[in-house]
Amino acid sequence: MSLRFQAISNISAAEDANPGNSGKITGSFGSNVFTLKTAREFLSDEAYKSLVSSIKNGQKIDRVMANQIATGVRAWAETKGVTHYTHWFQPLTGSTAEKHDSFFTLKSDGTPIEQFEGDALIQQEPDASSFPNGGLRATFEARGYTGWDPTSPPFIIEIGAGKTLCIPTIFISYTGESLDYKAPLLKAIDALNKAAVDVCHYFDKNVSKVAPTLGWEQEYFVVDEGLFNARPDLVMCGRTVYGHNSARNQQLEDHYFGSIPERVYAYMRDFENESYKLGIPLRTRHNEVAPAQFECAPIFEEVSVAVDHNSLLMDVMDRVARRHKLRVLLHEKPFAGINGSGKHNNWSMATDTGVNLLAPGKTPKTNLMFLTFFVNTIKAVHDYADILRASIASASNDHRLGANEAPPAIISVFIGQYLSKVLNDVKERVGDNFDEQDESMLKIDIHKSIPELLLDNTDRNRTSPFAFTGNKFEFRAVGSTANCANPMTVLNTIMAATLKQFKADVDALIEKGEKKEIAIMHVIREYIVASEKILFEGDGYSESWEKEAERRGLPNVKTTPLALDAMVTDKAKQLFHSCGIYSHSELEARHEIELEKYIKKIQIEGRLMGELATSHILPPSIRYQNLLASNIKGLKDAGLTEAAFSNQKQILDKISEHINKASDLVEKMIEARKICNNMEDTRTKAIAYQSQVKDAFFDAIRYHADKLELLVDDQNWYLPKYRELLFLR
Ligand code: ADP
Ligand code: MG
Repeated sequence: MSLRFQAISNISAAEDANPGNSGKITGSFGSNVFTLKTAREFLSDEAYKSLVSSIKNGQKIDRVMANQIATGVRAWAETKGVTHYTHWFQPLTGSTAEKHDSFFTLKSDGTPIEQFEGDALIQQEPDASSFPNGGLRATFEARGYTGWDPTSPPFIIEIGAGKTLCIPTIFISYTGESLDYKAPLLKAIDALNKAAVDVCHYFDKNVSKVAPTLGWEQEYFVVDEGLFNARPDLVMCGRTVYGHNSARNQQLEDHYFGSIPERVYAYMRDFENESYKLGIPLRTRHNEVAPAQFECAPIFEEVSVAVDHNSLLMDVMDRVARRHKLRVLLHEKPFAGINGSGKHNNWSMATDTGVNLLAPGKTPKTNLMFLTFFVNTIKAVHDYADILRASIASASNDHRLGANEAPPAIISVFIGQYLSKVLNDVKERVGDNFDEQDESMLKIDIHKSIPELLLDNTDRNRTSPFAFTGNKFEFRAVGSTANCANPMTVLNTIMAATLKQFKADVDALIEKGEKKEIAIMHVIREYIVASEKILFEGDGYSESWEKEAERRGLPNVKTTPLALDAMVTDKAKQLFHSCGIYSHSELEARHEIELEKYIKKIQIEGRLMGELATSHILPPSIRYQNLLASNIKGLKDAGLTEAAFSNQKQILDKISEHINKASDLVEKMIEARKICNNMEDTRTKAIAYQSQVKDAFFDAIRYHADKLELLVDDQNWYLPKYRELLFLR
């Protein structure tokens, strides 16, 4: 029996791994995290204070304190049965990395002890030469090291009985270049903080900190493990490179928000319980649009913690799925023809005085503050749309963006009818002779036109890549496999740069003698006019929008290799340098790394398509071809006339045609890959892989393979079919 049929028959025998009821969430929430509350218990006053001031004000922790903190963290971890520790970081591979060391060590006389010193907490040198570095380390001949990030609390990962203490760290080279996603993110958060606090001071002198907030929504597919294992493409690429549409897929629209299938429900509760222990505040779970597609979302948190939590969650989801003999697919497009998965990034900014800067205010004055941050966000997205687009570019997200179900590759901003009217009012009423009286009238009118419950009134436009949803912006174009850090680094950086410019512009008017509020209104008006063309309220999936966007001069870059160009323009270099996020060489290294990742992904998919065609698609097809041929011959020999086997002949004709075309195209694709592999320049090679390999062959080969799937006797087909992957569990 083939793996496919074994897997199918195993499904009905599958037992539910029931996670049981773990009681109230508050009972276990954060139990595996070294929270400040835990720190209070395990640290001396001195050490606790030093940790808190490092978290709140970025103060350095000295060696003596570090030793004390490390000892406290170990004491806590040992109460949980932890034996090993690791620095946990997010290298540019896109996954997370860890290297475990034990607390156990030997003293010089051979006495065994358990120990965790400050040095080990603060710094480690992973043998990291095999992490992507875009030539940075080669150039500087420097090794990399991980450095403790006290702003993100240590936590314990449990795998079976093994428990490991994880210290969140950043990963940098000895010459200081960042080699991970986290270090630049922390810099961007800091840059935004400074710029936003300055602008807040126009309205409220009490604000001393602004932190960006993030609530992600993680979409994913779940498939049975046996079926997954019988699909080498899912195993190797995370997506199906072959597979004919199932007769039924999402057209009945019966899955979205429907009741959750039992086996998946048990899985969800299990990974939720694991997440709660890690302090990941998951709140929402539901079915998504496509069959076998689901979503979960947490309560929002400060960006750096939210990013860690999303990376951690993706690991947990993958691990826990195996316990249930399921596999989670985080890929943006595991199945052609049905919806793909995204990771909406809900983003806003919060002050230490408790104000959400993107929530309309209760008074005309606070509404002016809201309007300031709102318009600055639109301006930021307008000015740096290309860089924002680059931040979400990947081989896998290319399948999704612009594929009729996801936001297009054109970045635009949706704000809804009420706020469109407000911006229009400002535009029309702030003129040359705009005076104090006009200003206070306008402020009151603006206040009146923003309904009190904007959150409930905001019209929902699901087709916009960047939509205002009442008290936050939702960046929807982010892919489901992506580490949120990259888009969040870019968004916070462009916001910081825009706010800095805003302050300079307002101050310049004030210096000329303008009153503060009037100066602010003038600059807001100027920004509205300058960025109007990024606003779009219509259907982002429509063809007419593509044409309209082109007329407006908005960029629409559909493929990753070209979208990535925006990372290394003079504009980008100037932006990231002036905000202190990336040096020119860091940007160039990252650009190179992203291009290389793209090339490798397409290369692997290309190889796999060739292999599977030869080993999985053609053999059953040829066997069936033989069967038909001998059937026809038999009928002929028996003296039957053409009419008796004309149908068989037709099928045989079709099968033969698809076999020939598929194998011919596979040969040609191999030739094309050889040509690409000889290219020196990374960008040229990436573009060639995209146009000469992927675009030229993938769909064409697949077309013939998928036709064969329909024609060939089901009993002999090796690869689990879409209907099985999507509906059996
Ligand atoms: P939706 O708007 O998508 O229907 P919600 O309003 O519940 O759903 O929010 C979706 C996500 O947005 C959640 O993860 C939530 O935590 C997050 N979110 C809500 N407010 C903010 C905020 N101020 N900053 C960042 N994320 C937020
Ligand atoms: Mg949403």
